[in-house]
Amino acid sequence: MIIAIDGTAGSGKSTTARLVARKLNFLHIDTGAMYRAAAYAVLKNNIDPDDKSTVEELVEGLKIRLQQNDEIQVLLNDKPVTDKIRSPEVTAIVSTVSSYDGVRRKLVKEQREMGKARDVVLEGRDIGTVVFPEADVKLFFIADIEERVRRRCHDMIEQGEKVDFDTLLTDIKSRDRLDSTRKASPLKKAEDAITIDTSNLTIDEQVEKVLSLISKKQSDKPSVKE
Ligand code: C5P
Repeated sequence: MIIAIDGTAGSGKSTTARLVARKLNFLHIDTGAMYRAAAYAVLKNNIDPDDKSTVEELVEGLKIRLQQNDEIQVLLNDKPVTDKIRSPEVTAIVSTVSSYDGVRRKLVKEQREMGKARDVVLEGRDIGTVVFPEADVKLFFIADIEERVRRRCHDMIEQGEKVDFDTLLTDIKSRDRLDSTRKASPLKKAEDAITIDTSNLTIDEQVEKVLSLISKKQSDKPSVKE
């Protein structure tokens, strides 16, 4: 079974995807983490993020893998980079790096391979539209911008980072704009996706909602006759 969750930054899709996958024993594929690992490699190699062809060439040669233990580990050329990919420097360039079609081709191919192997929950921006348009359940998460910024502030404070509400608001707005207006696979709701507005939902409520949609889909599926 393939569950696709798309949505903007801070809409709650990552936490929900992780908890739903844990509950159902599905693989959780955080595709944003893969684009972040690519952006991290661009920084590490001192490549100008605006230099499309050099970035595409670099990413083509990278090995980016997700390893699921209790938490997801992101491996870049077999080295763990999980604690490095959420830095403000990576966040500042990830939307540029992920806008290149060569970068997307490479990562989408890997995501499809991982998704075919077993039951999965994938989350990102283009799962229901491009990566798995045939997904069994397609969800599109939205939330008020102020609430999304508050959640990001909370996450960053928990990670011991300094935060400024207005800077985060500007960052998130800029990332939303870049992700929604790019030519290659822009963030948009698949026609047959169900919208979930998480502005006033707790994490438990989000998880419950998703689990009940999955279980409805499972019971609607025609059973195979022997
Ligand atoms: O999900 P997260 O906010 O960590 O994603 C980081 C960035 O990766 C997004 O802002 C977007 O530019 C890119 N991304 C993407 N397609 C996906 C997942 C993430 O372009 N499927």
